[in-house]
Amino acid sequence: MKLLEYEAKQIFSKYGIPVPKGALIRAPEEVAAHLPELGGAVVLKAQVDVGGRGKAGGVLFAEGATAVVTARDLFAREIKGVPVREILVEERLAIEHEYYVSIAIDRSSRQPVVLFADAGGVEIENAAQADESAVRRVVVSPLLREIPPFLMRELLGGAPKELAPVINSLYRAFQQKDAMLAEINPLVTTPRGVYAADAKLIIDDNALARQGIAVNRDLSEREREAEKHGFSYVELDGTIGVIGNGAGLTMSTLDLIEYYRGRAANFLDVGGGADQERVMHAVRLVASMPGVAVIVVNLLGGITRCDEVAKGIIAADVLPTVIVRMAGTNEEEGRRLLAENGYRMLESMDAAVRAAMGVAS
Ligand code: GDP
Ligand code: MN
Repeated sequence: MKLLEYEAKQIFSKYGIPVPKGALIRAPEEVAAHLPELGGAVVLKAQVDVGGRGKAGGVLFAEGATAVVTARDLFAREIKGVPVREILVEERLAIEHEYYVSIAIDRSSRQPVVLFADAGGVEIENAAQADESAVRRVVVSPLLREIPPFLMRELLGGAPKELAPVINSLYRAFQQKDAMLAEINPLVTTPRGVYAADAKLIIDDNALARQGIAVNRDLSEREREAEKHGFSYVELDGTIGVIGNGAGLTMSTLDLIEYYRGRAANFLDVGGGADQERVMHAVRLVASMPGVAVIVVNLLGGITRCDEVAKGIIAADVLPTVIVRMAGTNEEEGRRLLAENGYRMLESMDAAVRAAMGVAS
């Protein structure tokens, strides 16, 4: 789950990383009350979960009393289509230099990887693309509590040593918060020292309970419902709903839809041994997504019994057409039940997907 900048800054601050003085506001007028503590020059930052926010007009500067007008302007904007409901008002830093630092998991070595660049800020992606050596990286054993000095030296190169404790604090936050990503861009030097001018923290969805986060805000209502039932469920943007058992079969169904130039609306893996009740919930969930015109159910009967699946589909009683391909345990009974209730059960996955294409287009 992605945290907003102000949430990430609160956490970073607890780990000893200096962050600018700031306050969160939900209406333009609220800015006035914070001006005395923040000083004359402030930065107004839209708390929206989009990349390239600054370039898209989500970060504005203001002086003294004009801050209310600037806040009104920012609240009226949409940043890459996202409305601005909260603004972080901060003291403006006198930035001398902008660095980039981030920590993520390196999938190939399965260890945390720390990235650092001397030229941070809003152009970091372009800079890194133009010149790969602009970003240095070190892989750190997750068993270590901090980045060993020899790796820190390699990471920083000629950059000031005073950045090192901040990067180590970020590393501790990354580890203890079960993060997928912890990023400071820009990490800045000022006459008053080093500051995290921006902050990003993504918590591993599988660790939310351990982190005391009850609700994953990044999930849609349907995704939350799926999680409750223990389904693997993903939303896309087409018109064909897909239900399968097992990741392999479900993914091949998606591939086949793609092959015939169709577009899946979502897909759901019911897992092994799904009974009538589970199948019913799966079908209803997939059908409840707007835009689903047809559902392909592609199941292999092993411990999953085809007659149970058929009963689940019939009990779901949904509006989008349901086309079924099943093979295996109690296949004949499943076929009979489906036929009796007016559902089409086809012999192959290919035939089922092509039939769905006919309904969807
Ligand atoms: P992002 O576009 O969402 O990454 O937003 P940032 O919070 O990183 O801000 C974008 C840019 O605004 C930074 O790279 C800085 O150049 C500038 N900026 C942000 N805060 C300050 C500040 O306090 N003082 C100054 N001078 N510039 C700032
Ligand atoms: Mn940034």
